[in-house]
Amino acid sequence: MRQLTCTGPGVVEWREVPPPELAAPGDALVRPVAVARCEIDPPLILAGPRSADGPGFGFALGHEAVVEVVELGADLAPAAPPGLDVGQLALCSFQVSCGTCAACTGGRSGVCDSLPILSDYGMQPLSGTEYGGMLSDLVRVPHATTMLVPVPAGFDPARLAHLASVPDNVVDGYRSVAPHLAESPGLDVLVVIHGNRSIGLYAALSALALGAGSVTVESDDPVVLERAAAIGTKPVTTDLGRHQARYPLVVDCGTRAEGLLHAVDSVANEGVLHSVSYYLDPSITLPLGKMYTRGVRFSIGRAHSASLLPEVVGLIGAGGLDPAPITTSVIGWDEAPDRYLDDTVKLVVTR
Ligand SMILES: [Zn+2]
Ligand SMILES: [Zn+2]
Repeated sequence: MRQLTCTGPGVVEWREVPPPELAAPGDALVRPVAVARCEIDPPLILAGPRSADGPGFGFALGHEAVVEVVELGADLAPAAPPGLDVGQLALCSFQVSCGTCAACTGGRSGVCDSLPILSDYGMQPLSGTEYGGMLSDLVRVPHATTMLVPVPAGFDPARLAHLASVPDNVVDGYRSVAPHLAESPGLDVLVVIHGNRSIGLYAALSALALGAGSVTVESDDPVVLERAAAIGTKPVTTDLGRHQARYPLVVDCGTRAEGLLHAVDSVANEGVLHSVSYYLDPSITLPLGKMYTRGVRFSIGRAHSASLLPEVVGLIGAGGLDPAPITTSVIGWDEAPDRYLDDTVKLVVTR
């Protein structure tokens, strides 16, 4: 089968690889039909395969997908759980998780106790384990009843591409605001976007959907500000040098130290700063004295895909959240090798 593969720094190509097979009675085999590019994909591709994996090694790409169920394991086939019949369209958790350990049952499937940390599709350079990638003809899904969530009944098939990013970047944006707005309904929300553009815009969309008092997006990126205005938030141009107001809930979304410091300075006293960012540079520091004095509560960590998918898909199915306005480019399957690194906010590859 064909698998989109990163074979060198910045090099993406189709490779013929053996198709996966069912390996456990709870597995499913799925065929991805729409795959979104995650914010982490371009930096992973530009870095290329790990030297430890040796010359000629390539890793599979893609981990945000709408999939079609093709085959079910022995435990599932005789009486497929609702929504897991062969032919069903589903969203697939990008993190592999078991659904039964203490972490999974506690809503923290991203740190499943049964599997090594960073057990993800399409991210072999991070974990060292190849789980396959969604830009493939076939993917094995372990613990399928946990990992797969059916596409909402009646969802317009012509709009499937807009669901592809839900398993990762959409749930990431959602969880950056949802628990805080549940604790304090009607908060005014600021999203500071200095990289990782789609996650920040999904956070802004989620804040609107969850009844934030107001939603402001600050950025120095004109494309981000245009999208922020289009979805009905207040766009504010910033040079990230000086905070413009203070908010009880601030989402930090990006890659730059000055963006993080701007976000810290924009939090109201006793407010919350939620970061969805992964800072590669280990020398980046936080002004802890300032944060202590002003009582800034800082939360950071990965989203929990399998745990959050039912809630987010339910909201989308009920018409409460529509990720579509953040999709900026939809390309064909065969275009993926040439266009996967296009400069666009949210790229989706469809069959
Ligand atoms: Zn991702
Ligand atoms: Zn688990």
